[in-house]
Amino acid sequence: MHEVDMTKSLILTLRNWWEEQPEQPSISCVHLIVGRFTCVEPASLQFAFEVQTRNTFLDSATLQIQETPLIAYCHQCQHEYHPEIGIQYACPTCRSPMDDIRSGRELKIDRIEYTTPSEQLEARS
Ligand SMILES: [Zn+2]
Repeated sequence: MHEVDMTKSLILTLRNWWEEQPEQPSISCVHLIVGRFTCVEPASLQFAFEVQTRNTFLDSATLQIQETPLIAYCHQCQHEYHPEIGIQYACPTCRSPMDDIRSGRELKIDRIEYTTPSEQLEARS
């Protein structure tokens, strides 16, 4: 399953970041940008994340997924268009095949919400 592997590499990236921090922060939310053309199902990704982060440093973290649409650019007509995923990957005006994807293939961490141990101490006092 596509999403399981993606979640594994996502967790690995988060772990590397987490271990590099001077104080291990507590991560509350991970904002992810997922392009429509990655074929990632947000619900499956949510599920995989939930299962794989159980009892780890990401146990209390939630995943926020923001999807970006598929946008391609036609050099013939010099305009952007939205190909219909699974139906047609060509320019609606001149029918040239989609060759320049401007958006929709990204899968990246947008930002991480977290608190550091010292911030938590301050909040308590
Ligand atoms: Zn065109």
